[in-house]
Amino acid sequence: MSTPLRTVISPSRYVQGKGAIHQLGEYLKPIGSNPLIVADDLVWGLVGHDIEASLKNAGLPVQREAFGGMPTAREVDRIVEVIKRTGADVAVAVGGGSAIDTVKAAGFLAGIRWANCPTVASTDAPCSALSVIYTENGEFEEYRFFPRNPDLVLVDSQVVARAPVELLVAGVGDALATWLEARATSRSNSNTMAGGLPTLTGTALAQLSWDVLWDNALPAVDAVRDNEVTPAVEKVIEANTLLSGLGFESGGLAAAHAIHNGLTAVAATHGLAHGQKVNIGSVSQLVLEGAPTSEIRDFVEFTTRVGLPNTLTEVGLRADDADALKTVADAATAEGETIHAMPFTVRSADVVSVLASIERFATRVRREAKLPDPVPYTAH
Ligand SMILES: [Zn+2]
Repeated sequence: MSTPLRTVISPSRYVQGKGAIHQLGEYLKPIGSNPLIVADDLVWGLVGHDIEASLKNAGLPVQREAFGGMPTAREVDRIVEVIKRTGADVAVAVGGGSAIDTVKAAGFLAGIRWANCPTVASTDAPCSALSVIYTENGEFEEYRFFPRNPDLVLVDSQVVARAPVELLVAGVGDALATWLEARATSRSNSNTMAGGLPTLTGTALAQLSWDVLWDNALPAVDAVRDNEVTPAVEKVIEANTLLSGLGFESGGLAAAHAIHNGLTAVAATHGLAHGQKVNIGSVSQLVLEGAPTSEIRDFVEFTTRVGLPNTLTEVGLRADDADALKTVADAATAEGETIHAMPFTVRSADVVSVLASIERFATRVRREAKLPDPVPYTAH
């Protein structure tokens, strides 16, 4: 057996700032001469005009394909066909994590380069060399891994600050998990999503993401309520997108994302954002690893203040619904799931116990901190 190797991977270029979208064409030009923009109608209505102007300024043709809304195998194949028909040499996702994951997978299958222009900071999908594919019903189906990260990730902070604040909040949930999972992966010395053992670099970036969010998430969320870009907002966008993106991929995923994937197996959770479900995974992982009570308490208080769910009630589940919890736990502990990167063996029954236990504890912590009780979530 060969010696296990450590590795870190990243996009070729990351660009962030107010008005960055006006330079999208300039940054795309060295990557391709015939871009295909993939954006849904809502996103295109918001930024299409600026993108068109930017591409024209750079002497690039403007072709846009409407994104279907879900990162499914069928939607990926459809975009591959559009790439072939148009002869595009770079696929550009404009929008959120779903459009981005679809374009990465389609660009890879079509054999062209790909770039991302996230209009929200709601997930850490933009920088990675993998896509998460869902079924038509919204259940987790598979991770697809690619040999390259995006050639470009360009984020316009003003565009992100104009989006609904709930999306930034969800991104904070996704990014807080990064350190918890990288820490577990480094303790168990397991392989990361980058296909090797973690480097000091990947693990350190995950921890930096955590520190930046604890210091800046609350003022950033308040600023984005007023659509303002402040230094705290810039830091949180970078933490949610770049630090968490590199941190999860090269630092490793563990229980939090596996429990997220498990939650997608229950229809009651389908209307929730990825980062909201990931936060349930983070609280659960802390309990599962027997973290100090003060650490779990701090996490529940902080995420309540940020506006993230940390009880079953808030994701449409109940502690006494044994069937639903078993469905979640079975999916979370399926073979190949990242929960097996925890530094100890995790069985389905362990996850059921942990999930059932967070309801009462998180509610108590919130009451003691004079924070609001959980509000039940009902899927729309
Ligand atoms: Zn995630």
